Amino acid sequence: MKILVLNSGSSSLKFKLFMQKKLLASASGLIEQIGDEESSALLTFIDDLGNNKKLQLNSPIPDHRKAIKVMTVMLRESGMLTDLKELTGIGHRVVHGGESFQQPVRIDENVIAAIKKLIPLAPLHNPANLIGIEVAAEHAPRIPQVAVFDTAFHQSIPAHAYLYALPYYLYKKKKIRRYGFHGTSHAYVARQAAQYLDTPIEELNIITLHLGNGASAAAIQGGRCIDTSMGMTPLEGLVMGTRSGDIDPAILFYLARESGLGIDELDTLLNKKSGLKGICGDNDMRRICESAAQENRHAKFALNVFCYRLKKYIGSYMAALGGVDCIVFTGGIGENSGTVRWKCCLGMERLGISLDSRKNSLQQNDIREIQKKGSQISLLVIPTDEEYEIASQTLQVISDNNGAL
Ligand code: ADP
Repeated sequence: MKILVLNSGSSSLKFKLFMQKKLLASASGLIEQIGDEESSALLTFIDDLGNNKKLQLNSPIPDHRKAIKVMTVMLRESGMLTDLKELTGIGHRVVHGGESFQQPVRIDENVIAAIKKLIPLAPLHNPANLIGIEVAAEHAPRIPQVAVFDTAFHQSIPAHAYLYALPYYLYKKKKIRRYGFHGTSHAYVARQAAQYLDTPIEELNIITLHLGNGASAAAIQGGRCIDTSMGMTPLEGLVMGTRSGDIDPAILFYLARESGLGIDELDTLLNKKSGLKGICGDNDMRRICESAAQENRHAKFALNVFCYRLKKYIGSYMAALGGVDCIVFTGGIGENSGTVRWKCCLGMERLGISLDSRKNSLQQNDIREIQKKGSQISLLVIPTDEEYEIASQTLQVISDNNGAL
């Protein structure tokens, strides 16, 4: 049993190979700067003796077709996979499934057509995801391919949370609504949390906080998402590395009128020049925490704005859920920054949130709890694993289609 997970971006290809029914990760790779003179490919894997090994290649990789070839050669050299034909299935990360996909699906011509139709909603991501699907199908035409959508987990959100207060026809005609992203991560950590707490997920209210360069929160009731902070695009919600998250939309009209900024400049301003980077010039939370500890004024602003926004979302999702059993921190910042976790939980004791400073300061890679003993609400740090989740959903779809494997 071998499942390959592909995450095809506009100039990159991430891949991970899972073996056996237990889905053990055996090799993972990253091909970057596809289309550049400086492309690079790196594969890390565990050999027969259990040693960590690396294979590296630096030569121009002109397109995704060549990238998949390079991936195949590297996997063969590592001894992990002789041919793509050996695969049980290929799972693809697809960013936008719109309202068409509430579940992962086996890819066929209709699915490809539907993903193409959604390109206007994700003009940067869906075309890149489609290239990965097309090239993988060329190389391994008989291997089942499955699309796993970032938006699918959030399709359970009710209308009062996904509708914007805009003229209704904009939803009906233009599909303007909240979709939410990072769905595979939110779904994965919520399930892990339920397992850790040894409680059926159906009985839990969970807030999941995926805090990386992109950041989003989700409110999950009985295993179903009822609200999430990213919106029609990943720009809405929490403060992020370079994205503003929530702002007064009138700021855009003001900037257009007063400073003459055009649509593309406003897009770049909000998506690439705002967030942590906009406030303090850096989007690396580790460095920001270090600078803030040395009393750097702008680093302190950035950290404080980030954590205050986070706290507001925690509070609002506690209200939306009618109380919460567990809050999960994940993503590069959520898993590693004790400072951020501490700051966003500060002063929330009356709401049942009591963080244990000692447990919070411990660094470890496993799932762990950081609340004080007897605290009403469990606070968990859970390393996310989006590739594992995609592999697991891929396997599920293939098993459902073929009967038990
Ligand atoms: P991406 O969304 O690109 O996958 P990650 O989930 O890898 O991002 O998260 C990247 C963020 O995690 C960066 O801001 C980085 O500084 C932060 N981070 C990683 N380790 C630490 C740490 N020890 N302390 C604070 N922030 C950290």
